[in-house]
Amino acid sequence: MKILAVVGTKNTGKTTLVTRIVKELVNRGFKVGTIKHTHHDFDLEGKDTWKHREAGAKMVVGSGKSTFFIVNEQLPLEKILKIIGNTQELDYVVIEGFKFENYPKISTTSETEDDFTITNIDVFQSKPEDIVSLVDLVEKRTYDIVPGANCGECSFEDCLEMAKAIVKGDASEESCKMRKLREVELYIGDVKIPLNPFVQDFIKKSVMGMISTLKTDDVSDNKEFSGKIELWIRNIKD
Ligand code: SF4
Repeated sequence: MKILAVVGTKNTGKTTLVTRIVKELVNRGFKVGTIKHTHHDFDLEGKDTWKHREAGAKMVVGSGKSTFFIVNEQLPLEKILKIIGNTQELDYVVIEGFKFENYPKISTTSETEDDFTITNIDVFQSKPEDIVSLVDLVEKRTYDIVPGANCGECSFEDCLEMAKAIVKGDASEESCKMRKLREVELYIGDVKIPLNPFVQDFIKKSVMGMISTLKTDDVSDNKEFSGKIELWIRNIKD
């Protein structure tokens, strides 16, 4: 799941650009999600879900032709991305805002440029064909959440240096040795624990070995099973 942020000051066409990028990515056959950073409340006063929240509900879910979740607090971006990654199989997440995060960015103003800026664009002067070359760049210069192992195997000092090089077009996500071995992810609370290839392989084989002895139709009787396996350990102290 690659991540792109569209950042810029107020009224510089961020939403317009996000919608154009999303349309072009979808036209290319990608599955896309979006996130919008806002200082406003999403829930409309007087609506039933608003009343639920006012009553003290920590989380409210609206379920119908579409489903929405409202959590009564501002979640960190990385946690939102983790939830999205666990909920939907997406190729891209396009974020509007979050200018201080270290993800590849397209900026609609020069003031918001930083080491993670792919390019800068004047949305109101841009032509429809510009979006095609812009999304070509997006395909080449975006990446998933960095592994965080900082192992140096890619010849960069740490993961963020590698990320900056991808944004500039001087490296590719493929150079990350850990990325090819992202079969196993371990989180303790909300903190992702980097696992080297040996530990990933050890955990995977141990868990798969245990699962293969279970009498579950989905796994033990189906040798072709290749889906995602989630194991949650709630380490509750007495
Ligand atoms: S190989 Fe991957 S995990 Fe290691 S420093 Fe480079 S980007 Fe980070």
